[in-house]
Amino acid sequence: GSAPKLKTENPATGKPSRTYDGHTREQALAIARQVREAFPDWRRTSFTERGIVVGAAARILRERKDEFARLMADEMGKPVTEGLAEIEKCAFNCDYFVENAEGFLANEPVKLDGGRAYVTFNPLGPLLAVMPWNFPFWQVFRAAAPALMAGNPVILKHASNVPGCALAIEGVFREAGAPDNVFRTILIAGRDTAELIDSPDIAAVTLTGSVAAGKAVAEAAGRNLKKTVLELGGSDAYLVLEDADIDHAATVAATARMVNGGQSCIAGKRFVVVAPVREAFEKALAEKMSAMISMGDPLDPATKLGPMVSVKARDEIHRQVRKSVEKGARLLCGGEVPDRPGAWYPPTVLADVKPGQPAYDEEVFGPVAAVIEARDVEDAIRIANDSEFGLGSGVLTRDIRRGEEIAARDLEAGMAFVNENVRSDPRMPFGGVKHSGYGRECGVFGIREFVNIKSVHVR
Ligand code: NAP
Repeated sequence: GSAPKLKTENPATGKPSRTYDGHTREQALAIARQVREAFPDWRRTSFTERGIVVGAAARILRERKDEFARLMADEMGKPVTEGLAEIEKCAFNCDYFVENAEGFLANEPVKLDGGRAYVTFNPLGPLLAVMPWNFPFWQVFRAAAPALMAGNPVILKHASNVPGCALAIEGVFREAGAPDNVFRTILIAGRDTAELIDSPDIAAVTLTGSVAAGKAVAEAAGRNLKKTVLELGGSDAYLVLEDADIDHAATVAATARMVNGGQSCIAGKRFVVVAPVREAFEKALAEKMSAMISMGDPLDPATKLGPMVSVKARDEIHRQVRKSVEKGARLLCGGEVPDRPGAWYPPTVLADVKPGQPAYDEEVFGPVAAVIEARDVEDAIRIANDSEFGLGSGVLTRDIRRGEEIAARDLEAGMAFVNENVRSDPRMPFGGVKHSGYGRECGVFGIREFVNIKSVHVR
């Protein structure tokens, strides 16, 4: 059959942008086959040879960062200033794995009773990377740089609204001198992806995206006994304790909430505040959030808040806000859809957020902060953990020792930060628990996900 077209739309204007030819199922399977055929040679390259390719990718990213930032702005509305920082981070991530992959995957000797024993790390084979639109470059490079350095070729299935980014990234690796078919992009729909996982040409799958997509991919991979890493949604809670510096706490909270216009898995979404400081905190937070209202053209370097990814996504955010208010939440600022074309939504703060309201129960993927009152610290910990998700989390307090104890011991999350907002870093493992997924990206834990941990014993 013929493949569906992929149409992009500029979220700032609501106008159609470009149309791309998608791949048919047969074409996608043929690409997977070609990638499989590239594996035997790629797995035998040295770390130095792989590093030349991945290092060149870093240089190309830096050289062409303006172009890539504009491409992201056009396809998903990210302000160029944030886009440039994203591309820089991708380049840093490449350099980091070029420098460290060999050490992370060095043989580990084991002392046994006789002979010589050690653990060695072999690549698994073609990695299917199913990626989301919100950080269209970063998510891909976070998965691809360690995979390639470990000797795994990569097949990228990007979100359908960012085909230009998907093809640009394939171009970066081609230009970087990657051997043919070591990094390929396939343009297929999410719903057709599970079927591809049945192909013997795919060894493993990494997915960053929603819980629903994660379940579909895990099911297909499970049927085929293929290893997966899942980076799914989040509804990160930040605890605001009685002794917190309220102004600083509100600044951290607003910063955490507004990452990528609120469209980040590790954006702070729920702010759990102990009763004595709840009023002061919500007032300060509403002030900081309101100050971020300057919505503007993502191509303008001064713009901090761009549009949401699409009108459909914006309407869903607004529905969650309306429903929360109907069920008793108090709107402190924002909450109104601006009367202009495009997918705009203002910074919004909801107070009195309680179970039964979407702002409490669901992930809100936009600039909407939920303030939840807790009786005391124990109650705040309970509320933070009262979520299907467990990705990032935070504690805001002047008592560093107590904050650290709560972060390190009590919060059911893959990451817990004290007195700052959660950020990903190539050097620290990144991932979640519960419905936020499993497995880790970044650092030594990330690169070891898609390897065969092989025990060798020589007598
Ligand atoms: P999404 O719909 O799940 O899309 C993500 C990717 O999965 C896209 O490539 C999509 O393809 C594909 N997909 C969708 N349905 C699928 C299915 N049934 N089987 C296989 N693949 C499927 O995610 P989104 O809602 O656009 O993105 C936002 C979500 O991603 C949020 O929940 C956010 O928290 C999460 N996220 C998590 C992280 C993390 O690191 N934990 C990072 C960023 C985002 P199509 O576009 O073709 O449908």
